[in-house]
Amino acid sequence: MSGPKAKVVILGGGPAGVHLAQLLHKVANVTLVDRKNYYEINWATVRAHVQPDLADEIFIPYAGIPGIGTFVQAEVASVHADCVLLDRAMTMNLSKTSFPIGRQSNDDRLPYDFLAICTGGSYPSTLHQAGVATSIADRKAGIQAGNRALQNAGSVLIVGAGPAGVETAAEIAKAVPGKLVTLVGAHSSVLGNAQGTPPALAQHVEWWLRKHGVKVILDERADKVVDGAHITDKGTNLHADVVYTCSGSKPNTKFMEKEFAACLNEKRRIKVDSHLRVVGSASANIFAVGDCNDVPETKLGFLAREQAKVVATSIKTMLKQPQGVTIAPRLEVYVPYSGNPKVLIISLGRKHGAMHVGNVVVTHMLPRIKSKHLFIGHTRKQLGLDKREGMFACGRAPTVNE
Ligand SMILES: Cc1cc2nc3c(=O)[nH]c(=O)nc-3n(C[C@H](O)[C@H](O)[C@H](O)COP(=O)(O)OP(=O)(O)OC[C@H]3O[C@@H](n4cnc5c(N)ncnc54)[C@H](O)[C@@H]3O)c2cc1C
Repeated sequence: MSGPKAKVVILGGGPAGVHLAQLLHKVANVTLVDRKNYYEINWATVRAHVQPDLADEIFIPYAGIPGIGTFVQAEVASVHADCVLLDRAMTMNLSKTSFPIGRQSNDDRLPYDFLAICTGGSYPSTLHQAGVATSIADRKAGIQAGNRALQNAGSVLIVGAGPAGVETAAEIAKAVPGKLVTLVGAHSSVLGNAQGTPPALAQHVEWWLRKHGVKVILDERADKVVDGAHITDKGTNLHADVVYTCSGSKPNTKFMEKEFAACLNEKRRIKVDSHLRVVGSASANIFAVGDCNDVPETKLGFLAREQAKVVATSIKTMLKQPQGVTIAPRLEVYVPYSGNPKVLIISLGRKHGAMHVGNVVVTHMLPRIKSKHLFIGHTRKQLGLDKREGMFACGRAPTVNE
């Protein structure tokens, strides 16, 4: 392609979208869209709930992240063959104290040459669901309110015993002792949903939780709420002052349903080929990256970034293709992660953690590092920020539209 720079529109500013934007902003006209005005290091949100001052480090305004092109705060309403339609009103309704962070733009139609859908997934619980607060001020206020509710609670129920539920239970049991913490999961072991988890890791994690006073109920699906009580499919009645729903993470792909419904699988994930291009779309220039796609691997931020690298290289190759050449360019292939050690590291409070290397459970080194710092400094550095303060460390500031 020659002439004016190609328009690359990236939907979703999580690990996948931001990394992709940073890799492409020098070679293309990049626009990054997110419904909120801040990046969230979402695996650290649970700890911010028990330690609210952490919020300043893990909620980072997009305006402060270098090299992401033009940022637009808006809800993606629908995706079309040549453009994306935005719904700003929805964003404003969601955010009571949304504030302008840059030049205003009223254009609700974003045409694109390349589209990357990086909209991830959401949990029903506000603990992990960044999308419910679209301004950083609302998000921090929500964390403070959540912390007060937790401090005042006598009992806490966590529904879902996958990695998110387990880490939530562990964090609360260690940081806010004295609460009656119950973890209920539908599988016969904790972490039951995480791909390739060996029994030894699940057993170790369950042992740790019970040792720290967490009541673990397995093989029961808490699928009904009657008069505020959660009832399991086996009839157990679970009452608690505070409930966190950590099950049922759903891909954020509703905006695909209008014109691209055929591109979604039965779990509403976006079907992709080995180049992470959307399967079933007429265009070869539409990619889906990270948690929203159907790549068969554990959904992790680290892997979302790896996928972004592959797509960035392919888009760069396509951009270099001289006009008029009809031979398809050779695109990068993404190989789903199957390495060892597995990248799933479970933090169990601040001082303990576990991962597995083959069938051996490892509780020192990486797990300890994750549990202590939750890779916050590392993630901030990857974003091009100072490890501690949300100031520029390198690169140029983005143009920001709201
Ligand atoms: C408790 C917990 C612990 C975890 N631990 C780890 C870990 O230790 N290591 C690790 O690597 N990963 C971990 N993960 C997983 C990791 O957080 C995800 O894999 C990663 O965030 C996925 O990145 P993504 O960019 O694909 O999507 P997301 O991070 O989900 O980002 C998607 C973005 O799209 C935006 N968006 C969605 N829909 C719309 C719309 N319609 N309009 C506008 N914007 C929209 C959202 O606001 C969001 O900013 C953990 C997750 C949780 C919940």
